[in-house]
Amino acid sequence: MPEVVVVGAGTAGLACAARLAEAGVEALVLEARPRLGGRIRTFRPADGGPALELGAQVVHGDRNPAHTVLGPLPPAPRPEAAYVVSGRVARSMGVLGRGAHPPWLLEARLTGYAGEPGDGLSVAGWLARSGAAPAEAATAREWLRQVWAADPDRLAAADVAAAVRRDTGGRGEFTVPGGMDLLPRRLAEGLRIRTGTPVLAVGSGPDGRPYVRTSEGELDAEQVVLAVPPAVVHAGVLTLEGAAPGRRAAAAALVPGDAYCAVVTLSGSAPQTASVFDADGTSGFVSCRRGRPEVLVVAKDAAAACVRGAAGSAAHLAALLGVALPWSRGLAVTAVVAADWRADPYSGGAFCAPGPGAARAALDWARPDGRLFFTGEAALTGRGLPWLQGAYADGRRAAHEVLEARKP
Ligand SMILES: Cc1cc2nc3c(=O)[nH]c(=O)nc-3n(C[C@H](O)[C@H](O)[C@H](O)COP(=O)(O)OP(=O)(O)OC[C@H]3O[C@@H](n4cnc5c(N)ncnc54)[C@H](O)[C@@H]3O)c2cc1C
Repeated sequence: MPEVVVVGAGTAGLACAARLAEAGVEALVLEARPRLGGRIRTFRPADGGPALELGAQVVHGDRNPAHTVLGPLPPAPRPEAAYVVSGRVARSMGVLGRGAHPPWLLEARLTGYAGEPGDGLSVAGWLARSGAAPAEAATAREWLRQVWAADPDRLAAADVAAAVRRDTGGRGEFTVPGGMDLLPRRLAEGLRIRTGTPVLAVGSGPDGRPYVRTSEGELDAEQVVLAVPPAVVHAGVLTLEGAAPGRRAAAAALVPGDAYCAVVTLSGSAPQTASVFDADGTSGFVSCRRGRPEVLVVAKDAAAACVRGAAGSAAHLAALLGVALPWSRGLAVTAVVAADWRADPYSGGAFCAPGPGAARAALDWARPDGRLFFTGEAALTGRGLPWLQGAYADGRRAAHEVLEARKP
């Protein structure tokens, strides 16, 4: 019998198991998918071309723990060109920079908003009071929608600002050469992990000893750490037997935002390395690399639904890309590899944004229940960033709780 079973081999589960191993506690990690990393998913072209990310895109911050796990990482390269699509026309991103309120400046200013959590002011409401012209505010709305994978009407301004201020990850954006999936592979070194093993139920017996049920039977452990998104529990993919109503309510409240990402291979190659922000709200961020036929689409919230709708037809997808990347007009779509995070039963969406009541629900979700412990990006919604640094820190937090509970 393992001392601890960790359910889920995403960043949080692996960070937790790695910390337990450091402390000499034997953990067994059970993972539903055939691969590690959860919402990290790297795509590698068959001809050995550069890796593209269908999940987490960049490492945020120069003090992000990913630098400790992987060694110093290089800054994300600047594209040769950046464009913004507005009114179905792609123009140089410089047009936004010439205005008084480009979206990135409004995003930075929002961080300074010091309202009380729960004051009812949404990010959309904050933008309306920001002094930005209506067109600038509309562009920033779409920008923030893509950053947070949430409708700015349902993002709590004070909680967003507090989460960014509390982040200790530092500044800048960094990439992992060769692919982001190096992070879970590194974290997994030396751990006992069973992939392809969906956990169906978790609970505690009459003696308080936790159990984990898979299709192969039941497994006892001294402690169990649940490192799956709460959406997986809310959807009934994993049943929390005997869970208190508060925990069920927390799982229902921690709804991750929608995201649909795709690597679309075209019949011709890109003439330049470019990044495109679609302010019209139909395709999120689109990027391509000089001399490569792959185009990466990362679309969140309403834009995710648009790309999902277009992805069913090569002609519709080509038409969508033709707006963001005029050079692609007339080219055919030869392959599509998509990550539909909302439809994926083991994620249920992108990540949890600080909406009304989410910070409270996150505290309820994170609270241990006897010998059951809970972790993941959703567990610190509103108190930290729901990204890799948050998942990693929260995995270590859960490991600390397990170790404290094991003290005689
Ligand atoms: C499109 C997109 C873009 C993003 N961009 C960034 C970015 O640029 N930078 C950044 O830092 N973050 C980004 N993120 C967020 C980041 O990916 C997540 O915060 C982080 O990966 C979450 O880690 P986690 O361990 O909490 O959850 P997950 O990675 O989801 O791990 C949970 C694990 O549990 C497993 N699981 C679920 N159900 C079961 C079950 N029943 N039995 C067993 N195992 C189960 C899952 O398969 C998964 O492996 C992005 C996410 C998405 C989707």
